[in-house]
Amino acid sequence: MTYNRTASRCKVLVSGASIAGPTLAFWLNRYGYDVTVVERAGTVRAGGYPIDVRGTALEVIRRMGILPRLQDAHIDLRRLTFLNEDGSEVASIHPNNVTGGVAGRDLEVWRGDLSEALYAAVRDDAEFLFNDSIETLDESGDGVDVTFHGGGSRRFDMVLSAEGMHSRTREMLFGREEQFHRYLGYCFAVFTMRNTFGLSHETVMWNTPGRAAALYATRDDDKVHAFLNFARPEPPFDAFPNREAQHKLLAEVFADAGWEVPGMLAAMRDADDVFFDAVAQIRMPRWSSGRVALVGDAAHAPSFLTGQGTSLALVGAYMLAHSLAGRDHTAGFATYEQGTREFVTLNQGLVGEGGATLFPTTAEALEQRNDRLRKLTAIPSSAGRPAHSALTLPEPPVMPGHAR
Ligand SMILES: Cc1cc2nc3c(=O)[nH]c(=O)nc-3n(C[C@H](O)[C@H](O)[C@H](O)COP(=O)(O)OP(=O)(O)OC[C@H]3O[C@@H](n4cnc5c(N)ncnc54)[C@H](O)[C@@H]3O)c2cc1C
Repeated sequence: MTYNRTASRCKVLVSGASIAGPTLAFWLNRYGYDVTVVERAGTVRAGGYPIDVRGTALEVIRRMGILPRLQDAHIDLRRLTFLNEDGSEVASIHPNNVTGGVAGRDLEVWRGDLSEALYAAVRDDAEFLFNDSIETLDESGDGVDVTFHGGGSRRFDMVLSAEGMHSRTREMLFGREEQFHRYLGYCFAVFTMRNTFGLSHETVMWNTPGRAAALYATRDDDKVHAFLNFARPEPPFDAFPNREAQHKLLAEVFADAGWEVPGMLAAMRDADDVFFDAVAQIRMPRWSSGRVALVGDAAHAPSFLTGQGTSLALVGAYMLAHSLAGRDHTAGFATYEQGTREFVTLNQGLVGEGGATLFPTTAEALEQRNDRLRKLTAIPSSAGRPAHSALTLPEPPVMPGHAR
């Protein structure tokens, strides 16, 4: 498809500049839109945990020209070791045998590295407003009037929320998150701590029924990502906004835990990057309302149990921009949903596999899991999961001066 950049300068506001936001801004710009991105944080948020890019999503970043940069940033995790309650080894396997990743093709990079690469690809072609957010939205006539938290107001033709799982714009338009939030029965905390364990390019995971603790060494430096996960029938709503309540809850749940867990709990107290949340998905009957649409985790977070959140965000952003090209918002949003929903549903469906492998909740399920793991090998899998590549991207626009 050849698209005439001057045919329309439709004004679009994208809210959120993590994964889906900059990807969407990049492709909308290629299709001739005038794009503004508003991000609540002061800059593109660096750091964070490692994420995977697989299957169809690899093609999105290849078409953006950033695949080589991200291949250089590949983490190259070589080993995943599961431990019993007493710290003895259950099995040591290649991580791809659990995640369905393909060695030599799929990417695992730090979230900050991916976000930074996506931002670098579009920052000169879109307007970025950091330290700000949408305060109010008012759709009237042929546009949306937006007021910003930092003051000022503007009118856009469309507003697209890439605000992640707890999107405020989604709440303003569609109502409370609880309606769309599918709690998967676990809560987790991640933070970094000193690597005093001699780990390098590997993960070690300790399990008891309903509890897991993992150390994740992604680089040859002195830091590891610590991860604590526990099963809980109902989400602990009181703990989400309250750091002290999170510490208390984790200390209770892991009170009698052995291995390195006491040291991890102590390190968590001093860590300034603790991230605590429920393991959950977002499932919505529709991803748009009027001139506003949702993309990435805001529309369809699959949870980290699938390992597909980032890949879905990349593919969803590409599909939304492509669907809008040459169409008005109504037809464009409908095309986006038609073309993307099946892929999302398939990938959200991977969730059972992740939970059963990583976090069995009964002694029997844990023993069965361990038996399965012992039969796996240290040789990396060479076949990815069909769901990862279940969508073939439509061709990008041909723009003068841009390679495909
Ligand atoms: C522990 C953990 C491990 C994970 N592991 C993996 C993995 O292995 N593989 C994988 O693919 N995925 C993984 N994920 C999920 C992945 O990080 C997300 O699915 C993915 O980043 C979705 O991107 P997004 O751009 O839609 O949303 P987000 O990355 O959540 O970004 C939302 C952005 O919007 C901004 N924002 C929020 N509200 C507003 C507002 N009101 N106004 C303006 N800006 C706003 C935020 O600051 C942020 O920059 C993991 C997640 C967690 C928590």
